[in-house]
Amino acid sequence: MNLYTRLINKDHPLPPDYVPENLTDIGIPFDAPCGDPKRLLEIRTAHAALTLIQAAQKESLIITGISGYRSYKRQQQLSTGNPYVASPGTSEHQSGLALDVSCPSIQYQLIPEFAETPEGKWLKRNASLYGFIIRYPANKEPITGIPWEPWHIRYVTRPLAGCLALTGLTLEEYYSTFGAPLQNPEPEIT
Ligand SMILES: [Zn+2]
Repeated sequence: MNLYTRLINKDHPLPPDYVPENLTDIGIPFDAPCGDPKRLLEIRTAHAALTLIQAAQKESLIITGISGYRSYKRQQQLSTGNPYVASPGTSEHQSGLALDVSCPSIQYQLIPEFAETPEGKWLKRNASLYGFIIRYPANKEPITGIPWEPWHIRYVTRPLAGCLALTGLTLEEYYSTFGAPLQNPEPEIT
């Protein structure tokens, strides 16, 4: 299965020993100190996220990384006793392909109000141009099983992100409609 288009959810968890190759901190602005593993992303995802953040900067928008990679063990620690945190293996953050972002005007919080900020609006409009989707859209909770998270972006490559943005399908709906992911995403120069 293609790494970037992989469906990760409760029904399709990652194995406990899954650690993405090529985890890297390429210097995305983060609300986390240097050396913190949450600054890590899979390398192609990291380049795409940096390009996205720099494009937003050109419009004077400050999109800041809050949480990228999260190990199975860390997810286990966070979810123990907390039904609102994804169980280990079911979080996209273990894949290194997901990034939570926020902005200064809401004090870098991960809250629904992010969607109303200029950064949140820009992200919703433009994420797919950089290969990302808003993975847990509003009103799709019955399908994704996850409440609306306007701050959580998932790298899926530009062809698939464009397709999902155009059709309004979630990754779950895409798989159940077409059965298989795009097998050969266009090579991207990042
Ligand atoms: Zn997230």
